[in-house]
Amino acid sequence: MKVVVDLAKCTGHGICESIADDVFEVQDDGTLVIHDSERPESDRDRMRQAVTQCPAAALSLTE
Ligand code: SF4
Repeated sequence: MKVVVDLAKCTGHGICESIADDVFEVQDDGTLVIHDSERPESDRDRMRQAVTQCPAAALSLTE
């Protein structure tokens, strides 16, 4: 599974980073960087949580 961000929607608040700071990193300029966007199946619950809690609906999961 892969987690992707729509940077046109992301507002850089960093809720995702607070859920998984090893994956999501908001840069000083507010741009979100995703580290290792291809995630193992064991990470699905955590990635789903980030997707559902993003206030801008900027994150999504693809298979
Ligand atoms: S929670 Fe959503 S809006 Fe906030 S930094 Fe993450 S992807 Fe961007």
